Amino acid sequence: MRSKVMHYLSKLFSSNRKYSFCDELTGLGNIKYFHESLALHASSNKDADKLSVILINIDGFKDINNCYGYSAGNEILLEISKRIQSAINYCIHESIDEFISYNLCRVSGDEFSIAINGYDKSSFITSVMRKVSSGFKEPVATKSETLVISASIGAAEYSTQAQSKQELIKFSDMAMCNAKSSGSNQYRWFSREMETESIEKSVMISKIKKAIQENEFSLSYQPKVNCKEGGTELKEAEALIRWKTKSGEQISPAEFIPFAEKNGLSNDIGKWVFEQLCKDIKGLEDNNISNIKFSFNVSPNQLKDEVFRLFIEKMILKYKVNPNKLQMEITEHCIAEDISKTKETLLKIKKLGIEISLDDFGTEYSSLQFLSELPIDIIKIDRIFVSGCHENRKRGAIINAIVALANGLGMQSVAEGVESIQEAKFIIKSGCTQIQGFYYHKPMPLKEFVTATQ
Ligand code: C2E
Ligand code: MG
Ligand code: MG
Repeated sequence: MRSKVMHYLSKLFSSNRKYSFCDELTGLGNIKYFHESLALHASSNKDADKLSVILINIDGFKDINNCYGYSAGNEILLEISKRIQSAINYCIHESIDEFISYNLCRVSGDEFSIAINGYDKSSFITSVMRKVSSGFKEPVATKSETLVISASIGAAEYSTQAQSKQELIKFSDMAMCNAKSSGSNQYRWFSREMETESIEKSVMISKIKKAIQENEFSLSYQPKVNCKEGGTELKEAEALIRWKTKSGEQISPAEFIPFAEKNGLSNDIGKWVFEQLCKDIKGLEDNNISNIKFSFNVSPNQLKDEVFRLFIEKMILKYKVNPNKLQMEITEHCIAEDISKTKETLLKIKKLGIEISLDDFGTEYSSLQFLSELPIDIIKIDRIFVSGCHENRKRGAIINAIVALANGLGMQSVAEGVESIQEAKFIIKSGCTQIQGFYYHKPMPLKEFVTATQ
């Protein structure tokens, strides 16, 4: 027997008003229908306690659309809506609870939601999430491609967790986002810890946005010294971002950069860094210091973004910076997803006159394919190999091998994080081109750097 609410909803969906509640592509309910159904359930005392919501978000759907086009995207959505539907029907068929009813809707481009009514809620919802998730294992065939698709799934339930319709949506969304940030292709029940995490995340996001607006960031410069000259002349430096909040708190880039990358803020920070670097270079040139080469770090999202590349071009023109005095530091994370696309982007950047440096080499993929196919000028050997290299045979051997590789490929090499004279001597003997480390110089504010160059 179906509840009065479900009866009303199915009538609504088959009425003349159908079109304003229907998703044209899949024939499922749309977001309006989803909200209507939740509002009705939540206001019905009889039904409210039995209500749960599952949100299903397709992983990386934007990239699928961009790579394979909208019509392939639509074929995928249609196929997925059918798989979700059959997963629910399978679970209902297997369940001992006769009173289960549900609404499956497409609530946004790449997101489906299921409002489920049933007595044996938790275990049933878990079984639906599991079944929906396993439904994604089979690749999806479109007219042109066969693609492996996955989804991040989250669920929350009424009364024991959410106290209102808004909370039910919010909590299932938090559970879905938690599944996504834990590596995607997973399902999760909402928990109170997710709420705390989510609040902390929003606080940090607005703190970073405010920091950009209120100019709380600055750049520090860490010189790199030429091994042959033994650190006497300063001709190169790496620009490193620093964040000091208005209340005086210093937050390390090792903390906020990965956070910004994960939460879509790295482009905003990257633009600030590059413009500030150009302003600083212009300021130096106005003071007749024009012989220094500067490197700057970019995050994977920046490298992928055509707009960021155009921004670089714009800033170079605006501040009249000589691009031959610039190096872009990328990590292997920037490359991993699509080597041919990365190559295309790097070639465009190199065409401007900017050199490419591969940062933190040895800590990620250490891919020789990247080295052989990409237009890389400099390899930066990560600090983990430099630390104690003079007394640790394996680290020493790795450094010698990377330096030999760089030499053989006609690239320069930079050893990062040199902290002692023993390490410096080992690096110099290895034939490495440059050293960057506290033994010679710590990162310093621009003014101090200017003094050090004179
Ligand atoms: P990185 O690009 O590998 O930068 C080198 C890091 O090593 C810097 O840390 C520098 O201060 C530190 N370092 C240099 N010499 C020594 C040494 O002798 N001993 C030790 N213990 N550390 C040394 P920092 O400034 O905290 O930056 C950490 C990371 O944050 C950077 O690693 C980079 O990945 C990222 N980062 C910094 N600024 C930016 C930026 O403007 N944009 C982006 N996307 N990332 C940035
Ligand atoms: Mg770097
Ligand atoms: Mg590094």
